Amino acid sequence: MASRDPATDQLINYKKTLKDSPGFITTKSGAPVGIKTAIQTVGKNGPALLQDVNFLDEMSSFDRERIPERVVHAKGAGAFGYFEVTHDITKYSAAKVFESIGKRTPIAVRFSTVGGESGSADTVRDPRGFAVKFYTDDGVWDLVGNNTPIFFIRDPTLFPSFIHTQKRNPATHLKDPDMFWDFLTLRPETIHQLLYLFGDRGIPDGYRHMNGYGSHTFKLVNSQGVGYWVKFHYKTNQGIKNLSVDKAGELASTDPDYSIRDLYNSIAKGDYPSWTFYIQVMTMAQAESCKFNPFDLTKIWPHAEYPLIPVGKLVLDRNPKNYFAEVEQIAFSPSNLVPGIEPSPDKMLQGRLFAYSDTHRHRLGANYLQIPVNCPYKVAVSNYQRDGPQAIHNQDDCPNYFPNSFSGPQECPRAQRLQPRYNVGGDVDRYDSGQTEDNFSQATALYKQVFDDAAKQRAIANIVDHLKDAAAFIQERAIKIFSQVHPELGNKVAAGLAPYKKYHANL
Ligand code: NDP
Repeated sequence: MASRDPATDQLINYKKTLKDSPGFITTKSGAPVGIKTAIQTVGKNGPALLQDVNFLDEMSSFDRERIPERVVHAKGAGAFGYFEVTHDITKYSAAKVFESIGKRTPIAVRFSTVGGESGSADTVRDPRGFAVKFYTDDGVWDLVGNNTPIFFIRDPTLFPSFIHTQKRNPATHLKDPDMFWDFLTLRPETIHQLLYLFGDRGIPDGYRHMNGYGSHTFKLVNSQGVGYWVKFHYKTNQGIKNLSVDKAGELASTDPDYSIRDLYNSIAKGDYPSWTFYIQVMTMAQAESCKFNPFDLTKIWPHAEYPLIPVGKLVLDRNPKNYFAEVEQIAFSPSNLVPGIEPSPDKMLQGRLFAYSDTHRHRLGANYLQIPVNCPYKVAVSNYQRDGPQAIHNQDDCPNYFPNSFSGPQECPRAQRLQPRYNVGGDVDRYDSGQTEDNFSQATALYKQVFDDAAKQRAIANIVDHLKDAAAFIQERAIKIFSQVHPELGNKVAAGLAPYKKYHANL
């Protein structure tokens, strides 16, 4: 870390650029404060008086500074900028965000690690969140993605258990290699994402040098009401860069906020990071005959069959002015969709449509969408919802029921057209696909075709270094799964684990 950089100069720059003094200190209720450095007491040595309302005002505010930490994605960095359309995709979607070439839509982005707490190190091996909020002319569209195109599981019912295994043991409050590997090896659908994670992209070099993916399949709808399945990709224009295990370990102790600092300084210096935005498209007919389930979040769509179609670029050119207001309180939800963009049957997406907004209602309150960074400021929100805590925009004297005869807001025919009717059918059941789906062929493609020999060796070393701490029977199960990806991978992991297995066998 350089001794002085734009991040460390923040206060100096604040003072330099300040035009008008903020004036006198006030209480929360706006009353000027006379003396700020002493509590009101009886006599020089106390006791203190309950009537010191300035102290009560200050202390009660301080006591409430923390809101609940996000259960996942607690540590993050945010920035603002724009999305610009560079290619016409109106044949696929009538969403206003894609309306015309050159159109710019303001965006907010939050990058994050997933498993660690808000004080944890940035340079850990972990997927990275890459959530984009588009403030469109039709309201907010959130694309709440990651830096990987896939995920560990395909059924949202498993999500709480999966996350528990990646966090702390309830007894020891420590990360637990048995929990981690036990769950993952009992659910073989995790292998594709697991291999990706233990590959080079498992530790990106900050947030600027990684790709983003909407990960789920979504549906785009054009102005004729025709729907297409799509995947979203945002490829870094800074080039992919990852950290070696040694460098990441060193940074975790010397600069645990490495990724936040890197993003802040880059934007402060005018070196604005950008990503090229693409879609992959699958027609409804192609989906019917697709040899894999196109709504399975553990799978990618092969580029050769579904090529990347360029759409635009994401540019980040403004740092937050206040971290809590603009990053801690920013609230993304896949359920924030706009006309022309719809969900797919992807079960994980369906689960997230509920879970994200539910979390925000818990963390930020029922009216979290009225907080400035979350509010769809390009449109006037107009509906029949009222009241609740912090109802800042409560729609004045407009009628609060629908239908009504008194000029309340009306249904939008365009939004109706862009949500065409479709047919679904099937038996209601709980379909556990853990063993019945193809869990391996795409992980095999990653190992065989994408990793070169050196990358394979690094992935094996990373796996062994983590798996060595798990119980021997879990190691055995893991070896079987890695062997199903490729016999060579299984053999090499087994060979790497041999010294540690002996240790466990003697327990
Ligand atoms: P392609 O050869 O067309 O694509 C391979 C992809 O792998 C490229 O997108 C490349 O990303 C990415 N890649 C390169 N190095 C790594 C790495 N160390 N870790 C993870 N990804 C890497 O083949 P397919 O589309 O048929 O996919 C084959 C396999 O590639 C998949 O099974 C999947 O594991 C992986 N992959 C596929 C993606 C997709 O959406 N099709 C996206 C990312 C990975 P880039 O070109 O952006 O550098």
